[in-house]
Amino acid sequence: MKQIALLEKGFGQTPVEPLSGDYGNNHFFMKRDDMVPFSFGGNKARKAAEFYKEIQKSSADVVMTYGSNSSNHCRITANMAAAMGLSCHIISPVENREILYNTRLVEEFGAVIETCPVTQVAGTIENRKAVYAAEGKIPYFITGGGHGNPGTESYVKAYREIESYEKENRIYFDYIFHASGTGATQAGLVCGKLLSGDKKRKIVGISIAREEERGRQVVKESIGEYLGRDFEKLYREEDLIFTGAFRLGGYGQYNEEVVETIRKVMKLDGIPMDATYVGKAFSGMCRYLKENDITGKNVLFIHTGGTPLFFDFLDRSKTGPESRQG
Ligand SMILES: *Cc1c(COP(=O)(O)O)cnc(C)c1O
Repeated sequence: MKQIALLEKGFGQTPVEPLSGDYGNNHFFMKRDDMVPFSFGGNKARKAAEFYKEIQKSSADVVMTYGSNSSNHCRITANMAAAMGLSCHIISPVENREILYNTRLVEEFGAVIETCPVTQVAGTIENRKAVYAAEGKIPYFITGGGHGNPGTESYVKAYREIESYEKENRIYFDYIFHASGTGATQAGLVCGKLLSGDKKRKIVGISIAREEERGRQVVKESIGEYLGRDFEKLYREEDLIFTGAFRLGGYGQYNEEVVETIRKVMKLDGIPMDATYVGKAFSGMCRYLKENDITGKNVLFIHTGGTPLFFDFLDRSKTGPESRQG
């Protein structure tokens, strides 16, 4: 399999910049993980750099994953597999029929997309693995969303980048906010914090889909999986803040406030955000700070990417905001 120079050597730190727009009575900064320099970046690209190493170690000849073919995760996985000279097989729920820019990129990279009803996903994955094995092929399976220890590890590294930025710039971020989905991003950040011994900083995951109880539980399990035996020693409940208050009904749902936030950040700071993840989380952060009377703090928002989805947002906003699936 071919090497990808960028993922082989790692991509260094993503930029952290103060924001210019007025988003409330705090000092806002943004860490630009949307600028991870592979396939339009984002947290899936950061995670992919860790999965890349695992795939290199294996003797896999096909990369398999599960997810909507319009997702950032599938775009990055398909691009990585193509660059490595491996085939890519994506199991995608048939309920998700939207053709977005990500879908077109996934097709561009030549990935095989196999659809099945969402209730039959697990069986379809097992069957497909068995078929490959019978053909003498070795599949490497990446959990949906890049969930799992490699994904978590990538955000432990991001947390260390944040600490080194703070040291260099003599600043301390009282809060870190980000969009939380499958929870690997948050698990990594929280593990980074627990391992560094910081007891003061608050990391707030804004749920973009899952309800609070279940979402929080999944993040906690990922933290446990990553820390292993150190979990009992390091973990404290108050270090895991996952809020479901800004789900707006679930995945892909957004409102006028999210739309206005995206427009404002684009206009005042020149930063594109999508409506499913980043714009929704940024808007949720502004509300969270307001509702909890938090002022005068240094607040870091992590832009987790999804640049192609920004263009889907633009296409859609011609006809006004509307909730969408997928
Ligand atoms: C997948 C995704 C998230 C959620 O990340 P998790 O690690 O699954 O919680 C957030 N933002 C963007 C842009 C994503 O694509």
